[in-house]
Amino acid sequence: MISDDLLAILACPRCDDRPPLELKGDRLVCTRCGWSYRIVDGIPHLLPEEAEPPEEIEG
Ligand SMILES: [Zn+2]
Repeated sequence: MISDDLLAILACPRCDDRPPLELKGDRLVCTRCGWSYRIVDGIPHLLPEEAEPPEEIEG
């Protein structure tokens, strides 16, 4: 859905030091802050106002 080349140049808009993003299912997750960004029609929506907070992991 997202190529490695594209993934390499994308960065979290919430973090100043441009940490890498990790592809998880249909979204990109920041490896630093953990907020996630939706991918719609192959286009990552890297917008702070559309970011979703990290999910609490139970168990
Ligand atoms: Zn981040």
